[in-house]
Amino acid sequence: MTKDLTLTLHGAARTVTGSCHEFTFGDHRILVDCGLFQGSRTLEGLNAGAFGFNPAKVDAVILTHAHIDHSGLLPRLVAEGFRGKIWCTQPTADLLEYMLADAGRIHEADTARRNRRRDRAGEDPFDPLYTEADAIAAWGQASPVELEEWFEPVPGIRARLWNAGHILGSASAELEAGGVRVLCSGDLGPDNKAFHADPEGTSGFDHVLCESTYGDRARVPMTIDGRRRELEAEIRGAMARGGNLIIPTFALERTQELLLDIAELMHAGAIPNVQVFIDSPLASQATKVFERHAARLEGFSREPTFRQPAFHFVDSVQESIRLNSISGAIILSASGMCEAGRIRHHLVHNLHKREATVLFVGYQAAGSLGRVIVEGAGRVRISGEDVMVRATIRRIDSYSAHADQGELLDWIEARAPIAGSLFLIHGEQAALEALRRLAQSKLPETHIVLPEIGESYILPPAAPARRTKTGRTDLTQALGRDWQNSYAELVTGLKRELSRIEDTRERQKAVEAMRKVLDSYTQFRSDKHRRGRR
Ligand SMILES: [Zn+2]
Repeated sequence: MTKDLTLTLHGAARTVTGSCHEFTFGDHRILVDCGLFQGSRTLEGLNAGAFGFNPAKVDAVILTHAHIDHSGLLPRLVAEGFRGKIWCTQPTADLLEYMLADAGRIHEADTARRNRRRDRAGEDPFDPLYTEADAIAAWGQASPVELEEWFEPVPGIRARLWNAGHILGSASAELEAGGVRVLCSGDLGPDNKAFHADPEGTSGFDHVLCESTYGDRARVPMTIDGRRRELEAEIRGAMARGGNLIIPTFALERTQELLLDIAELMHAGAIPNVQVFIDSPLASQATKVFERHAARLEGFSREPTFRQPAFHFVDSVQESIRLNSISGAIILSASGMCEAGRIRHHLVHNLHKREATVLFVGYQAAGSLGRVIVEGAGRVRISGEDVMVRATIRRIDSYSAHADQGELLDWIEARAPIAGSLFLIHGEQAALEALRRLAQSKLPETHIVLPEIGESYILPPAAPARRTKTGRTDLTQALGRDWQNSYAELVTGLKRELSRIEDTRERQKAVEAMRKVLDSYTQFRSDKHRRGRR
């Protein structure tokens, strides 16, 4: 049995979701994170595929934080035989209970809905990715540890967690095995993040895995106060338009940051005392976990911030449906990228209204409905319904839970010297390339790798990582933009172009011209096909 430390990347390589890094040492195997792929339907299809390892042969998991793209496949891992501990901080363990259960319920509801459709079409039903019961079982394997305290997930590998400043409970994971020191950043928070100190850690590693979500974006430095002024302007603008202000938000952390800021703005008299509905059972649960860990949080100027007379935590579906008929309120609802949850109903009821405002305050992954709306689609498809977009679409970028380019570079420099390799992960292609360029100029001696999903490496002490297995080329195409969204946008664009042509004869000519382009494409395809067969 060789005693090399090896790394295999099963997700979050050349993409931002599906974090799952497998480390082996001797006959032991641990995972750092086991997350869900999110974004396009194609990408989400990967969640049902076989794991790249046998779950029963995984000895332990170290979980950096409770976000579903890092934790969301744990229930499947457990359902398929994983019996070890899931090491994480106490707040992560507390959040996990609700985060995973919620994901399980979404998978069950989603499957039931699709199965009704399949049943009508005479097709066989399929099973949910996992159930709420699977999720609760996985949560039962969580094993909380304190930050900065060593623990031994398996004999021969010791580990400790460092504050990552990203969300409540988030951590970077340091591993040491056979004299090799490795650090996995997890997701890193920005400076000036509400609630949390800036990311912490130690220096001098053999290998570092660093997230790159915003590797190509430098934000204007923004204080908490400056961000609040931006929110104030958006709320005032939306209220002046008269309709609802719909804010798609992540249930975890972004909701609590917004509530903190809205409460502060109300207390300062900067915005009217407008009614605020938090329409996400998960957001309500996460808020309770925040209250439980209030002692760990920074930035509370008065207590209790989350309980205001104007704040209404919407629980039942009936209450949620009643919101369809209100106007002039703020509605916070999940999911933040509009891929699931009650936000989709609020979009159906508000997107077509000129007086309504939709304010995006979070990252929108390529292919997600949120991204399509932000990019200016005139019409979107939500749960089988065509919805015109007439509402004012706004966006605030300063509410990030992620470090920007400069902050990522600072974090990397603070971990130096890196004697072996720096792996840039958890980013889309442009972000990875930009960060690589800058990191290389800051650390000219360091070997930098942009790994692909499915690749394996030996991580030697004080020497560059050696690739031992190539990636999964079948996945490359899944990482880009989803064809269904591209198609919807093309059709919308065509309709828009045609509607701009006033004269009906000119319109007819335009349609004929487009038809010619399509015909020539069809001809080109069939020629290519014939040439290919020869
Ligand atoms: Zn995260």
